[in-house]
Amino acid sequence: MTKALIMTITDWYESQPQPYKIDKVHLLVGDFTCVEPASLEFAFEVQTKNTFLEGAKLAIKNIPLVAFCHNCNEEYQPEIGLQYSCPKCHSPMDDIRSGRELKIDRLEYSCV
Ligand SMILES: [Zn+2]
Repeated sequence: MTKALIMTITDWYESQPQPYKIDKVHLLVGDFTCVEPASLEFAFEVQTKNTFLEGAKLAIKNIPLVAFCHNCNEEYQPEIGLQYSCPKCHSPMDDIRSGRELKIDRLEYSCV
C-alpha cells in the first residue's frame, strides 16, 4: 500500500518541470481501511530512505466510515468492529459512502 503511494508521488515528481523538496505528504485514510497510521508512517520512512522523499513527513487525516441505508434513505455511521447495520432498521451495511479511501490529499513542497 505504501509502495502505491510512493509511486504516485514519484509520478507527480517526475512530471514537474523542476525538482522540488517534498516537505509533507497529506494523506486521507479511511477508518475502514485497517491501516494503522503508525505502521504506515514507519513503512513510509523505511521505503523512502535515499530517495527524493527522504525526510518527508506524513500528515494523516482520518475519514470516518459512512454508510447509506437504502431502506431509510439515510446516511449513518457504523461503529467499526461493533455494529455495521443500520441503527434504525437494522438492514445490513451494503453501501459504503466513505471510509475506504487511502489517497493523497495534497503535497507540501519547496524549491531546491
Ligand atoms: Zn435503515
